[in-house]
Amino acid sequence: MGYKKTEHYDEKVTAGLMKSYKEIIDLLGEDSEREGLQKTPERVAKAMQYLTQGYQIDAKAIINSAKFHEEVSEMIVVKDIEIYSMCEHHMLPFIGKAHVAYIPNGWITGLSKVARVVDVFARRLQVQERLTIQIRDAIKETLNPLGVAVVIEAKHLCMMMRGVQKQNSVTTTSAFDGEFLKNPTRSEFLKLISASLD
Ligand SMILES: [Zn+2]
Repeated sequence: MGYKKTEHYDEKVTAGLMKSYKEIIDLLGEDSEREGLQKTPERVAKAMQYLTQGYQIDAKAIINSAKFHEEVSEMIVVKDIEIYSMCEHHMLPFIGKAHVAYIPNGWITGLSKVARVVDVFARRLQVQERLTIQIRDAIKETLNPLGVAVVIEAKHLCMMMRGVQKQNSVTTTSAFDGEFLKNPTRSEFLKLISASLD
């Protein structure tokens, strides 16, 4: 089963978003007719659709499109996958890294597919906790591995730019399953990624 990356914009959605963003610009005290802002509603409308394109993509289809039978039972770790997501409370970005590991049970997937799955769930309005769990579950439900582990560390612009203004605070979330619920396996994974952790 294939999947398609969307770079095309729904005309009706774009038109609706443009109207709304024009209004937002004016409500914020700006002049949406000012030269520098004339094309902004359209740009934002497209940018927002791009940043939320994950809703249109099936993460499990991505893994299933590159699922290979392989008798390995060593831990597979994909470190430092870049995350660009948006918090659903303020619609401001949170950015960071994901570290994903799994222990195969007869099936593996392409390493790039793991990164793609992270992207599919990140390109939505999210909370970091749910993002972490969704990545774990997509891998668990497609590859049926002996264990899955996901750790995400991210900085939230909504914390950095407003409110408490904690510029350097990093939020870390994790989700484990199977073998990773056991201490030795989890420790091995955390040791493998610790060089990357802040
Ligand atoms: Zn927020």
